Amino acid sequence: MYQPTSQQNVDTEIPAAAAVTDANLEIINTPHTDLMTLAKQHICTIWQSQWNNSTTKLREAISSVTEHLSLPRRRHDQVIISRLLIGHTLVTHKYLFSNEEAPTCQTCQLPDCRLTVKHILLECTATQDARNHACMPESIKEAITTYYE
Ligand SMILES: [Zn+2]
Repeated sequence: MYQPTSQQNVDTEIPAAAAVTDANLEIINTPHTDLMTLAKQHICTIWQSQWNNSTTKLREAISSVTEHLSLPRRRHDQVIISRLLIGHTLVTHKYLFSNEEAPTCQTCQLPDCRLTVKHILLECTATQDARNHACMPESIKEAITTYYE
């Protein structure tokens, strides 16, 4: 950054060539770590914007791209939690392999009530009392992740 000395007239413009050769020119070195932080922030902003516009089911559970989700240690448990978070389980999606219609909830038996992980854990009216008794959280992420931590 160029800082004019006290002898120089601040009101006049100094030609760029003179400013470059000025011995009193103060050069401020910016550490690369400062630039890395800015670059990371910019990338996260772009990534978050794309995430906000996506229609994935995982976005319902994880709203921020910088949010870290702690998973259980065992691989088998990680797979179960991940499948629940994205809403893909054998119970809810096996119809795709057998070329059948999507399953409906047989517990509440509401018309056109599609059987989904979100419905089972949060929405089914037949299990509302049990969820209240167990103090189940009302968000899908908390409902899934609260019990293994
Ligand atoms: Zn139901």
